[in-house]
Amino acid sequence: MERLEAYSNIAAVSTVAKICNIIVRSDEGITRAELARFTGFSKSTITQHVDTLLSSGFITQISLPDKSNGGRTSQYLKLNKDCGVVVAIDLGITSLHVGICNIMGEPLAVKCIENINVNEGPEAILQKAVSMANDLLEELNVPKRRLLGVGMGVPAPLEFSTGRPVSPPVMLSWDGYSVKEYLEKAFGVRAYVDNDVNIMAIAELWRGDARDDLNFLFIKLGTGIGCGIISNGNIYRGSNGCAGDIGHMKVDGFTHTCYCGNIGCLEKLAGAAAIQERAYELARNKESPYLEKLLSQGEEITCKSVNAAVTSGDISCIELIRTVGGYIGDVVSNLVTFFNPSKIVFGGGISNFGDVIINPIRKKIYGSCGSLATKDLQIQRSRLGENCGVIGAAILVREELFHPKEFTKVLSSVLEGDTAANGK
Ligand SMILES: [Zn+2]
Repeated sequence: MERLEAYSNIAAVSTVAKICNIIVRSDEGITRAELARFTGFSKSTITQHVDTLLSSGFITQISLPDKSNGGRTSQYLKLNKDCGVVVAIDLGITSLHVGICNIMGEPLAVKCIENINVNEGPEAILQKAVSMANDLLEELNVPKRRLLGVGMGVPAPLEFSTGRPVSPPVMLSWDGYSVKEYLEKAFGVRAYVDNDVNIMAIAELWRGDARDDLNFLFIKLGTGIGCGIISNGNIYRGSNGCAGDIGHMKVDGFTHTCYCGNIGCLEKLAGAAAIQERAYELARNKESPYLEKLLSQGEEITCKSVNAAVTSGDISCIELIRTVGGYIGDVVSNLVTFFNPSKIVFGGGISNFGDVIINPIRKKIYGSCGSLATKDLQIQRSRLGENCGVIGAAILVREELFHPKEFTKVLSSVLEGDTAANGK
């Protein structure tokens, strides 16, 4: 029944919304002739709807050389990246990035707080995010009417339709809280909330090195470990929104009890806290000269200090990171066998260990997966940097706002607004 309802909803959306969605998803732009060919609609239908879209200001047209037309120029239709702005929020377990982006996901300004504590609760954290966003909007001198929507990533499994975290293992006070509703009230526009790793996978799909990959995995290695799944060019969230929660997959042979209650979870062995804990042991046992010195000077030992130790050639720290890479490789090998991705992109603070952590992961994958699964597989670090989550949160807004089901409502309110304004 659900499947039928989903189909009938799609079937009911207007032609103009379908055409707009294809223009938006073409990213680089599409000609009217290509649109007609792609949709099967007549040229006159395309012309009529494209004119409506151009007058709404959501799309624009530019002259570009047309490869299929002997090098002559053609008019390409594309999303008007200046049609409005988006508030994009990326909440990690220990950090908060807030940005104002254009609708293509390009950041115009970003603010960040490191060392936040998500357990201060949803209202305290969201209030901070809203006030940072309002400051940025004011700095950029953006009038309220240009704000199209809000996107946010949260480090918890959540129900996407309502934007509520569901049984989050590390931020209990957020359980069932409607983040979406809070943001919609605060900004007066539509808000979309997703898992933080999913928004990073979306950023990688549209703005990163996975732009040409239809089936790939984005793996965040940080305080938490999670996996964003892109299947056939779309994010895959699972039936309850918790697909890709790989931090709580079991690594064989370990009996550590995780905070989630299970035994031998990957995150408990390879998350930032596990690395930090092991680093303190290396310092106390005088196994790492670099970390021992830091400890004797009374300095805090963090993953950044371990990375500095690795760069300086500290053997025990290099060994620690290689071991952690091996644990991650055990779990990721299973994902490769199961999903057959064309690419795996690693992001998050722990991916900053670079080849020292990625080479052992690679070795495990090549050692245990079939040759067909690894034949064309590319394994790399994300190059989007620390704004990856902000970029993804902004693109999430674009994806949802211009989805045919939603866009029909958005467009009619814009066009009605125009008529009202013209009538005055
Ligand atoms: Zn666990």
